[in-house]
Amino acid sequence: MAPKTTTLLVIGGGPGGYVAAIRAAQLGVATVLVEGMAPGGTCLNIGCIPSKALIHAADEYDRVRRANTTSPLGIHAGAAGIDLAVTQAWKEGVVGKLTGGVAALLRKAGVHVVGGWARIVDGKTVDVAQAHGETLRIQCEHLLLATGSEPMALPQLPFSEPGGKVLSSTEALALTEVPQHLVVVGAGYIGLELGMAWRKLGAEVTVVDVADRVLPGYDEDLGKPVLAALKRMGIVLHLGCTAEGLTADGSGLRVRSRHADEFVLPADRVLVAAGRRPRTAGLESLQLDMDGRAVKVDATGRTSMRNVWAIGDLTGEPMLAHRAMAQGEVAAECIAGHKRRFAPLAIPAVCFTDPEVVAVGLTQTQAVHAGIEALSALFPFAANGRALTMEGGEGFVRVVARQDNHLVLGWQAVGQGVSELAAAFSYAIEMGARLEDVGGIVHAHPTLGEAVQEAALRALGRAIHL
Ligand SMILES: Cc1cc2nc3c(=O)[nH]c(=O)nc-3n(C[C@H](O)[C@H](O)[C@H](O)COP(=O)(O)OP(=O)(O)OC[C@H]3O[C@@H](n4cnc5c(N)ncnc54)[C@H](O)[C@@H]3O)c2cc1C
Repeated sequence: MAPKTTTLLVIGGGPGGYVAAIRAAQLGVATVLVEGMAPGGTCLNIGCIPSKALIHAADEYDRVRRANTTSPLGIHAGAAGIDLAVTQAWKEGVVGKLTGGVAALLRKAGVHVVGGWARIVDGKTVDVAQAHGETLRIQCEHLLLATGSEPMALPQLPFSEPGGKVLSSTEALALTEVPQHLVVVGAGYIGLELGMAWRKLGAEVTVVDVADRVLPGYDEDLGKPVLAALKRMGIVLHLGCTAEGLTADGSGLRVRSRHADEFVLPADRVLVAAGRRPRTAGLESLQLDMDGRAVKVDATGRTSMRNVWAIGDLTGEPMLAHRAMAQGEVAAECIAGHKRRFAPLAIPAVCFTDPEVVAVGLTQTQAVHAGIEALSALFPFAANGRALTMEGGEGFVRVVARQDNHLVLGWQAVGQGVSELAAAFSYAIEMGARLEDVGGIVHAHPTLGEAVQEAALRALGRAIHL
């Protein structure tokens, strides 16, 4: 039986909500978590995990296919084939293992999970519409909002009904047939990750974005190797262009460029990846201060209402799973009476494109804008042994540090497998490392990590391998 009263009620079981619930329960706070989907939220069910599973499958298929034609390694394989239904089932298996794991963790911690959609009555009362039709009313001392975010539709290109042509990332992850012509609207990380994956799986892919470059949220140098890879893969780009809507017969997408007239792109599927927005529907019954579209919170997760807390995508950018988790842990500890603040020096951002991109902390330009005299140096993977053994000689690691005392302020990297360098980058910044510290640490050989050390040494004017 679900309790009718609790100390903490969490709405949303994504990475923010489930981490907060587990941590609160660990600290002895009676906790109920309400979730309308499977536990794990966007991240596990329709975001990070299924997208990375699809990307891995696409990479494997592409590797076999390329080996058949162009492998410089002398590998020959038979004709490549893919049974997408099996691929999707494997991907769902990975998702199921992880969502099942989260359910078990919640159980073990003593969190009471209530399945159903929550409707907020007031800051201390929530009604849950359960699957069997009954409504359960729960009273709480603390209400933690972790309802996440949702894909943003374009007014001229609304998402179709299931099975239709205009898709959000959710449907684009679940396709059971490779589209012939996939048009991706949005050259941010979600659009490019999925566009590249479907290209590797055999679709003709075109990317349209109103911005003049790919990954507009990232430093321009990081986008260049990604742009080169997109072109190499045969993905057609229409940058500086806007999607105007489907053609009258629905067979294509009308696009307008800044300089030319409207033209039509053939499209049997259109993926709109034009951003996400906090899921605030249903919060009207609360009098919350907002920060644009997001719920305004302080560094503990407190909103403008006493004992009402918010974390994760609902609180705005950067909308990333690891930020939601970290905020969730802090809010739970504060609810339990501990003194904590969410004040990281840097939150890593990773694009699982091919090549991958990582950005942590400040770029040199951002440092200068912040009034800090900064120096910067990069080390190319073309001079890194491990990268070359993996056919990954493209890209670089770049470090940004204070000019005066060499305190590391930021890292940027692009290249094969650089997502795994994100931890090293974050440690250096959060632990207050200087260039001399990073340069003086013995890094394993041959690894991509040596490029991290060499970037620091180069910033000090003493790179060895360049
Ligand atoms: C395709 C894709 C790829 C992504 N890849 C990455 C990545 O590689 N790395 C990364 O860090 N981030 C990635 N993200 C973003 C990441 O998924 C989110 O930042 C993260 O899930 C946010 O966590 P959250 O807990 O704030 O919200 P969510 O994960 O969105 O969870 C919110 C939960 O609340 C539930 N909910 C909402 N309203 C109610 C209600 N009224 N009653 C009950 N339940 C409710 C929802 O069902 C949902 O499960 C990706 C997102 C997408 C879409």
